[in-house]
Amino acid sequence: MAADPITPRLAAVIGWPVKHSLSPLLHRTWAAREGVNGHYIPVAAEPTYEAFARACDALRTLGFAGCNVTLPHKEHALRYAASATPRAEKAGAANMLTFAPDGPKADNSDIAGFAAALRETASELEPGRAMVLGAGGAARAVVLALAEMGFSPIVVANRSRDKADAVAALAKRAAAIDWEAREEPLAGAAVLVNATSLGMTGAPPLEISLDRLPKKAVVAEIIYAPLETPLLDAARARGNRTADGLSMLLHQAAFGYRAWLGEKAVVDADIRRVLEAEIARRAA
Ligand code: NDP
Repeated sequence: MAADPITPRLAAVIGWPVKHSLSPLLHRTWAAREGVNGHYIPVAAEPTYEAFARACDALRTLGFAGCNVTLPHKEHALRYAASATPRAEKAGAANMLTFAPDGPKADNSDIAGFAAALRETASELEPGRAMVLGAGGAARAVVLALAEMGFSPIVVANRSRDKADAVAALAKRAAAIDWEAREEPLAGAAVLVNATSLGMTGAPPLEISLDRLPKKAVVAEIIYAPLETPLLDAARARGNRTADGLSMLLHQAAFGYRAWLGEKAVVDADIRRVLEAEIARRAA
């Protein structure tokens, strides 16, 4: 696509709150690198469906190509869409809306984003047992990604057991266990994923011993603030390979960028450095 100097391509992220989103920096950096005349803005919409729909209507009127959707609107995005990909339907949530002429189309790139982050760390990983901590929106995407990648069985532990049961029901070879039993399935596991908000800046720490986890297992984190969580530190210290939450963030964002703004969205050390610097600036 040749850059049009007059008419910018427009995209956004809708959330509540949204001002801490790293997506505008990420998309603008990719656009600048590729010479694309693109803008990507944060849009705050209060946590009701009506507020979300109003924000989307406004963006469509203004000619936006699409938007990312973050908490608490990922289910609202699916409701707003005229159509959705099978992945978004299955996840019951969408983090992307593309404003097509025949109506808004919902997609979920958290699933492919997590899979890409895991492959980046360990492309040859044998898809054995996977242990997933958490059963929120992000955990749903993680479980669907692991199932698509062939991990089996997938064990889901969550503080609220009913939510663990619901997430485990997303995949054929998945099962829920009580939160208190979360260390037992680590024996023989190929991958451990923290998909809770535990360990995030301002949240309580994640309490788990990695003693039973094989050294060849990969430990993945979806939190990216802080980037180096105690879980990742502990995993590296005992020799496990790790995938951090920034890797997932970058890979899921690339799908939106390519749908709305430009072509490449290369995930490399340069773009990581830009985001790492911003995460460090905010933590200072
Ligand atoms: P949700 O609020 O939907 O889920 C939060 C999860 O954390 C639930 O499983 C919840 O358990 C668990 N949890 C929270 N507090 C505790 C606690 N004190 N003890 C035990 N479990 C707890 O959030 P999301 O799934 O949307 O997001 C989770 C994290 O993932 C956030 O930090 C978010 O920033 C990050 N994220 C990162 C992405 C990336 O691209 N890297 C993409 C999406 C999200 P319960 O069900 O019992 O409440």
